[in-house]
Amino acid sequence: MKSTITGARCVLCGETYNIDEVHYTCPKCGDDGILDIEFDYDRVKKELTKESLQANDDRSIWRYMPLLPVSERKFAPKLQLGWTPLYETKTLGKLLGIENLWVKDDSRLPTASLKDRASAIAIVRAGELGQKTICAASTGNAASSLAGLGASVGIHPIIFVPKTAPKAKIAQLQVFGAKVFMVNGTYDDAFDLSLLARRKWNWYSRSTAVNPVLSEGKKTVSLEICEQMAFKAPDVIAVSVGDGCIVGGVAKGLLDLYAMGYIDKLPRVLGVQAKGSSVIATAFHKNTENIVVTSAHTVADSISVDKPRDAIKALRNVKKTGGNYVTVEDGEILEAITLLGRNTGVFAEPAGATSVAGIKKARQEGLIAAHEKVVAIVTGSGLKDVESAIKATGEPVVIEPNLLALEKALPADLA
Ligand SMILES: *Cc1c(COP(=O)(O)O)cnc(C)c1O
Ligand SMILES: [Zn+2]
Repeated sequence: MKSTITGARCVLCGETYNIDEVHYTCPKCGDDGILDIEFDYDRVKKELTKESLQANDDRSIWRYMPLLPVSERKFAPKLQLGWTPLYETKTLGKLLGIENLWVKDDSRLPTASLKDRASAIAIVRAGELGQKTICAASTGNAASSLAGLGASVGIHPIIFVPKTAPKAKIAQLQVFGAKVFMVNGTYDDAFDLSLLARRKWNWYSRSTAVNPVLSEGKKTVSLEICEQMAFKAPDVIAVSVGDGCIVGGVAKGLLDLYAMGYIDKLPRVLGVQAKGSSVIATAFHKNTENIVVTSAHTVADSISVDKPRDAIKALRNVKKTGGNYVTVEDGEILEAITLLGRNTGVFAEPAGATSVAGIKKARQEGLIAAHEKVVAIVTGSGLKDVESAIKATGEPVVIEPNLLALEKALPADLA
């Protein structure tokens, strides 16, 4: 096992395992026994200091190697990973009632979603373990991410997606040469099939939650946010939540930095769910870890989940940061796409703009004060789901190609 890692602990029974021996869930607890990788922070602190980071001009997730569950750079995807822009935006902030707002634009990752942070780690880990075939179930982005990053190193994964995944994500899979199986069912059906297939053929699995290295990759977004803010941590970081793997990872990155004393306070993580897919938020507010499976319906396909697979980390890690959950209607998500686009120039898919809708909601509910420093993570690009974008904006005006028609159509302030 890598020297900075002490083991992986089951979230249900607390047993710890060597990550070189147990690669997925707890052998005793089964598929729900998600493992959480634990680090020896004293060792990490020796290998990774604020000074060494400052001297390191490798602006990618690999700058955080001692805090990652992999060591072999030679298996890394040959694409630029991480160090996405963090934009300060007073204009959007004002509209949300927040004086100090930043947008972390993860739509700028190679395949245009935050999932690249996790796929990169999975590909390196598969390489270290000598596993040649990788599979994944996905609502779309995890798959297109694995396919694109894989293609850069000659890996063409086996993918299970629901038939309803947006066209652009399926197009990415096809272009990257993944072996795609469109499952005639929901994302949850695709997920269960991926678990069965992985066991039968011994493929390496990048399906969310059950592979504990993924949340460690996702946490790099928090490491970057804090470093980009010169380790003066913000008060709140908001992110959308489906299975719960991203939000758990976002909080994990902050807990890592706090445990090492690199930030002097823990930002509160705000998990944002769509009202039609909100079982984690409901459990959080009821203060229970009992997850009631529902039938999810939301315009935000990336967070449309009947049975969240990483709920326990999502609940506990958010609580550890003093954070909270809010839910937003589809209409509020669509409004957030235009608010974000028109005031920052960042184009988000519905699940990407959900963080912005959540900040507005949390401000209204009094969960965030006006003067607090707030970061919205944009998890995916609007180009992945243009149908929803047009739903948010409506169609533009059509005119005949002559001046008279234009004159008639011009709004009064331009005529
Ligand atoms: C996967 C995804 C999410 C949600 O992540 P979970 O780990 O399922 O909670 C949010 N936004 C986008 C764009 C995603 O692709
Ligand atoms: Zn267990």
